[in-house]
Amino acid sequence: MSPTEPWSPSSWKSKPIAQDVEYEDTAHLTKVLSKIERLPPLVTPSEIERLRHQLAMVQRNEAFLLHAGDCAESFDACTHENISAKIGLILSFSLILIWGARRPVVRIGRIAGQYAKPRSSPKETIDGKVVLSFRGDNVNGQGAFLCLDPNDRNPNPERLLSAYFHSTTTLNYVRGLLTSGFASLHHPRDWSLSHVRSPSLRKEFEQIVDSLSDALDFSRTIGVENGPVFEQGGARGTVGEVDFYTRQALSAFVHEGLMLEYEQALTRLLPVPAGVTMAHSSPTAHYNTSAHFLWIGDRTRQLTGAHVEYFRGIRNPIGIKVGPSMQGDELVRLLDVVNPDKEAGRVTLITRYGAGKVQDHLAGHIQAVQKTNHPVVWICDPMHGNTLTSSTGLKTRNFGTIIAELTASLRIHAECNSRLGGVSLEFTGELAEDGFSVTECLGGSMELSEDELGLRYQSFCDPRLNFEQSLDVAFLISNHFQK
Ligand code: PEP
Ligand code: MN
Repeated sequence: MSPTEPWSPSSWKSKPIAQDVEYEDTAHLTKVLSKIERLPPLVTPSEIERLRHQLAMVQRNEAFLLHAGDCAESFDACTHENISAKIGLILSFSLILIWGARRPVVRIGRIAGQYAKPRSSPKETIDGKVVLSFRGDNVNGQGAFLCLDPNDRNPNPERLLSAYFHSTTTLNYVRGLLTSGFASLHHPRDWSLSHVRSPSLRKEFEQIVDSLSDALDFSRTIGVENGPVFEQGGARGTVGEVDFYTRQALSAFVHEGLMLEYEQALTRLLPVPAGVTMAHSSPTAHYNTSAHFLWIGDRTRQLTGAHVEYFRGIRNPIGIKVGPSMQGDELVRLLDVVNPDKEAGRVTLITRYGAGKVQDHLAGHIQAVQKTNHPVVWICDPMHGNTLTSSTGLKTRNFGTIIAELTASLRIHAECNSRLGGVSLEFTGELAEDGFSVTECLGGSMELSEDELGLRYQSFCDPRLNFEQSLDVAFLISNHFQK
C-alpha cells in the first residue's frame, strides 16, 4: 500500500479484511448503513483537531495520556450509574496524576462506541453446541447467562443502528455531567469513593483533593485560575482548571475501529476548522465522526489490509496496537503509510507485549522508530499481554504482572532516551449490586485472591481493574514521575 494511491472512505473494500463480519441479509445491511449515513455526526472536526493538538503536547512531554475504560461496552450497561462511575474513575485517576506528576492529563475514554470485539476464533462451543463467537453488541447477542439463544449469534444489522443510538445517549449524558459541575474539584468526593474499603487509599486520595482544592482556591484568589490560553482547531481553551478538569474532563470518546462499514457510514468530508496547521493545507478533510480517536487492534493491523487502508485516509488521530509479532521494519512501514508527512499528534503507539516479553521487543521498536524521526506518542497497555485463566476457569489478570510490564516499559523508554507518554488500561468504577467493586483482576492493595474472583465478576469480555486497583496504578505512575 502506498500513501500516494488514491483513497476514498470505501477504498478499504478492495483489500483483504481481517475479523470480518458476514451478514446473511446484505439488503438489510445496506438499508441500515444508508440510514446511519444520514444521521448527524457524533463528534465535530473542531473537537478532533483539538485532540490532535493535545496529543502533540503529550508527544512533547507537556501532558500525560490516559486511555481507559471497558474492554467492551454493552447496551444493557448503558445506565446513568455505570456512566457516572466510569467518568468518576477517569477523573479520580487523572487527579492523582495531575497532582503527583504535575502535568496535565489528556483523558480519552473507551466509551460511547466500544461495542465491537475481535475474536481469536470465529466459532465456539457452548453446552455442546457450536455457535458463532460473540463479537460485541453491535454485531450479535451474547445470550443471557446459561440461556444462550444460538439464533442471537447471527450478525444482525439493526444492532449497528442501536450502537449509534447508544453512543449518542452515552455522549449526551457525559457531556451533560461535565457541563453540570460533576468534574468540579469541589465535588471529587462525589465521584464514588464512598465504597473504597481501604482507609489508607481513601486517606491518600483525600489528602490530594484537599491540597489541590487549596491550591486552586489560592489561584482563584490571585486571579490566575485558568492558566495559559491556547487556540487550535477553532477551539479556544486554557491549560488550567477549566480546561483540564472541567470542560475537557474527558478530552475524547474513542473505540477500536473494527467494523469498517459502520466507520465508513460516519466518515464525512467536512471543512477543516480555521487555524489548523496541516502538512498540505486543504479546505476540507475526511473526518470519522463516530469518535475523536480510533485505534487499530493487534489483529487487524496488516500493512496491506482493509483496516490500515481505511485509517490512512481519515484526519482523526489514531492508535496502533503493537504486540510481540510486530517486526521493527513493519512498524516503520506502517507509520509511513498512515502518517507520510510525519505530523505530530497523528499516531499513538499502544504497546502490549506481556510482562515476560516486553524486554525482548520494546527497545527494538523504539529504536526502529527513532531512526525515522516519526513523531509518535508511546503508551503502554499492560493488560492485553497479561491475560490468564484462573484455576476456577475465569479469565483474569494479575495486578503484579500488569505493574511489571508498566514499570519495565518506563525503564526501557528511559534507557532508550525515549519517553512513555501514557497508559492504556481496562478499568471500571462500576459497582456490583451489593455496592462493592467488581472482582475481576487478582491482587492490588486489596490483595484480591483467586477465591474472591467469582464474588463480583461482571465483565462479559476482558477482566478490568476495579476502582481501588486502578487508583493503586495511578499512585504508582504518579510516584514514578515525582522522582
Ligand atoms: C482491546 O484493546 O480490547 C484489544 C482487543 O486489544 P488488542 O488488539 O491489543 O488485543
Ligand atoms: Mn480487551
